[in-house]
Formats: sequence, C-alpha cells, structure tokens
Amino acid sequence: MRHVPGDLLKGGHLVGGRWVGAAGGGAAEVANPATDEVLATVPWGGGEDARRAVDAAAAALPEWRARTAAERAEPLRRLASLMLERREDLALLMTLEQGKPLAEARGEVAYAASFVDWAAEEGKRLYGELVPSSHRDKRILVLRQPLGVTAAITPWNFPAAMITRKLGPALAAGCAMVVKPAPQTPLSALAVGALAEEAGIPPGVVNVVCGDAEAIGDALLADPRVRKLSFTGSTEVGRILMAKAARNLTRLSLELGGHAPFLVFDDADVDAAVAGLLASKYRNMGQTCVCPNRILVQGGVYEAFVDRLAGAVAALKVGPGWEEGVRIGPLVDDEAVAKVERHVRDAVSKGARLRAGGERVRPGAGLADRFFAPTVLEDFTPDMELSHEETFGPVSPVRRFETEEEALELANDSPYGLASYFYTRDAARLIRVAEALEYGIVGANDGAPSTAQAPFGGVKHSGFGREGGRYVMDEYVNVKYVSWGGL
Ligand code: NAP
Repeated sequence: MRHVPGDLLKGGHLVGGRWVGAAGGGAAEVANPATDEVLATVPWGGGEDARRAVDAAAAALPEWRARTAAERAEPLRRLASLMLERREDLALLMTLEQGKPLAEARGEVAYAASFVDWAAEEGKRLYGELVPSSHRDKRILVLRQPLGVTAAITPWNFPAAMITRKLGPALAAGCAMVVKPAPQTPLSALAVGALAEEAGIPPGVVNVVCGDAEAIGDALLADPRVRKLSFTGSTEVGRILMAKAARNLTRLSLELGGHAPFLVFDDADVDAAVAGLLASKYRNMGQTCVCPNRILVQGGVYEAFVDRLAGAVAALKVGPGWEEGVRIGPLVDDEAVAKVERHVRDAVSKGARLRAGGERVRPGAGLADRFFAPTVLEDFTPDMELSHEETFGPVSPVRRFETEEEALELANDSPYGLASYFYTRDAARLIRVAEALEYGIVGANDGAPSTAQAPFGGVKHSGFGREGGRYVMDEYVNVKYVSWGGL
C-alpha cells in the first residue's frame, strides 16, 4: 500500500503558524480502526493549548480582517486547489484514520474543498444596504462585519469536510479560527492546516489543537475574545456547550444528531429508491448524521422494495477501506460496534426480522473486530431502541405504512429534524410531503442532497445554524447599522 507523504502527516498542534507540542507535554496515538496499527502520535493538549491558539488567532485577526474579500479569496481558492491536487494523499490518510472506503474518502476531499471554494466566492458578496429612513435628513447604512476570533469543534465521521464547512466561510468573512478535531481523526485536520499554510493563509488565521475536549471547550467558551463556536457532533454535547456558551453569550451554530425518515410511496420508482437508500444509508458505514434510520414503505411496493434492498445490501463488499471494491469498512471504534450490535439484538428480541447481515464479520486475517455486516431488518416498532436513537451503523430498519397521512405522522414523530427523504413520482405529493416534513433537509427522489451550494442544517434537537449556500456567511458576521443624520 502507498504511504501518506510526510508533509501531510503532522505530529504537532498548529498555533500561530508553528507546529508545536502540547503545553503540558501530553501526546496521544492515532490508530487505524481496521487494523489497530498506530499511524502517528499527536499532542494531547488542554485549556492552556486552547488559550495559546486564541492568542495566535487574536494576533492574526486585524491584518486578515482588514483585507478585501478578494484578497482573502485568493489564498482560500489556493487551499481548495491544493486539497484537490493532494486528493489521493488526503483520501488515503482519511481512510487509514477513519475507516471509510477510499472512493468515499476521495469524494469527501472534493466535497471538503468545495466548501472552501464556495465560501471564497460568497465572501465577495457580503453586501450591505442603504435603507431609506423615516426622517428626511437621515439614511441607514447596514454593514456586515466579521465576528472576530471563532472556534470549531468537529466530529470524526467527516474528518475534513466538517472542518472546511466552518473554516471556509469563517475565513472568507474575515474571521480567524481555532479548530479542535475529534481524537479519532486529528491527522486529517492537521493536514488541512498544513495545506492552509502552504496556500499562503497567514500564520494564526488557522489554528488546530487536539486533546481533552472538555478542557479545550471550556477554555474557548470562557474566553471573551472567542465570539463564535461552531459545533458539529451529538445533541447531548451540543446541549452542554450551549449551557456553557451562556457565560460569554458566545454565538453558536449547532449541527447535531439526526434520525432521518426515508419514505417510499406506491408511486415511487422502486429501483431509484433502493439506489437512494444504498447511497444515503451505507455511506461511511452508516455513520452520518443524515443517514436514514427509519425506512417507511407503502404496502403496494413493500415486498418489491425490501427484496431488492436485501439483495443489494447482501452484495456490498466488506473489508478494509483501501481494498478495491470495498463499500463497508470498519466502524470507527469498539464503542460504535457495540452500539450497533446492541440495537440489532434489541430489535430482534422485540420481533424484528433479519433480512440481511445482523452480526460482526471478519473480512480478512489480521483485521480488527470492528466490521459489521450491512443489515436490513423488517418490522421495526416504536419500542425498539433503534426507533428513537441514532444507530450510527450500517443497519436499515424497515416497516410498512398504508396512507400518506400515516407516513407523515410516523416520519415527524421524532425530536430530531435534520434530514429526511422520500420517493414518489406524483408531482402534487412531491410538494405536499416536502412541505409537511419537519426537517431542515428534504431529499425528494434524492438520496444525496448535501452540497456546498445548499444551506445544510437542522431544526428541533438537530440544532440550528446553516452550513453551505449563501446563508452560511450569516453565521460569521455581525450586522451593524449606522444611522447617518444631518443630511
Ligand atoms: P460527540 O461525541 O458529540 O463529539 C463531537 C466533538 O465534540 C468531538 O470533537 C468531541 O471530542 C467533542 N466533545 C465531546 N464532549 C465535549 C465537551 N464536553 N466539550 C467540548 N467538546 C466536546 O459526537 P461524535 O460521536 O464525535 O459524532 C457523532 C455525532 O455527530 C452524531 O450524533 C452525528 O449525528 C453528529 N453529526 C452531526 C452532523 C451535522 O451536520 N448535523 C454532522 C456529522 C455528525 P471527544 O471525542 O474527545 O470527546
């Protein structure tokens, strides 16, 4: 197998343009979830590391903020280009530390770069307004100005894209940022930091620190210079951060958990629906916030849909992500496999019927025990754990419905509101159902709705804030007005 070139394999924190160890000297190993092989050692920091990173960001801010949007866009576009030029290396690094198949990792690198590229252009369109006043001698000038120092705390499931969705718009708006990546996947984050440096983004504008999440999060939220925290992760941690953000009234974007419904109506193209479900459910081994967790199929196409789905799922190749043709790699850690196993056992003990998979598999010698066969379960019911909790694994629970009204009631019966999907060929139903789904994202005959041009984000317990689209810039600016009198 190829190796990741040394210039992308960083073993230090990026603070103020320098690669440094943790303030307390701590270090942590990063291991390949498919083999347990240690890939690298990174610093394991805490509050002091976060404070030093905020110092660096605050020092870099004035010059970066003073630039024109076009001057900021130039190194940002270079960063996006470098990510694409180094796509193979970044993808391999991601597969090795996170587990996703190489083809998906290549896709994520391009997806991650697209957010930087998109934001670089959107930064040029941070228009203000001149508003007519109710007084003859006044005008109101509205400005959108960068927030200042910002922070990002990110999860392991999209090690590059979850960072660039925040970093791109923050920098394009004129903010500096401190990033704390997940402990399972710091190497991709540090590699993005290395490319940001190479692209000519000034020292201190991008900082990456790893380590104790609570200590780093607390230090960021205790520091009044940090004007915004953008968090992607679980609803549980989102709540904790929101409570702590109250202290300095730190602005938040919270991209939290989901529990997506996937509806297939009698008038759907069944093959397209199966293909859509394979794409949205089994990507990243089912470890995405937009993964369907409740597949609801109308009676007329139920048997055909489940038969085709079970056949297609059983054919998905399981193995280490770097092997040709693999669609299902290892889950990220032991805890993740244990949760999937628990959900499947619980469902089966309460009457669900297995149609594919259902257990761990060993796809080769010398591999870790973290591979779970892609699974299809029929007849899930509300009392099963997987009906209301994210499984975060390759498991499709399916059940039948009879009417559109019943389907919508089941679909909206969740505290989460991130992604939802439905398949129909009826134009009136398409509008009706899209409007009735209480979710931030609706894939209508589309199993892969995420893209840099769209405002990704949730409602209810899935959080608030939007990433992508033109709306993302609002997350990183203050709106100020100047009441201009004496005209
Ligand atoms: P997580 O446990 O909430 O962790 C996310 C990040 O928060 C990690 O970097 C974690 O570091 C850190 N963290 C944990 N406790 C913290 C605390 N008290 N203070 C500050 N930081 C803290 O989530 P995960 O298991 O990594 O990711 C999976 C979750 O993310 C799922 O619920 C998924 O749906 C959600 N997600 C949402 C989106 C979206 O856009 N809505 C996208 C992807 C994933 P440590 O691991 O070191 O604790």
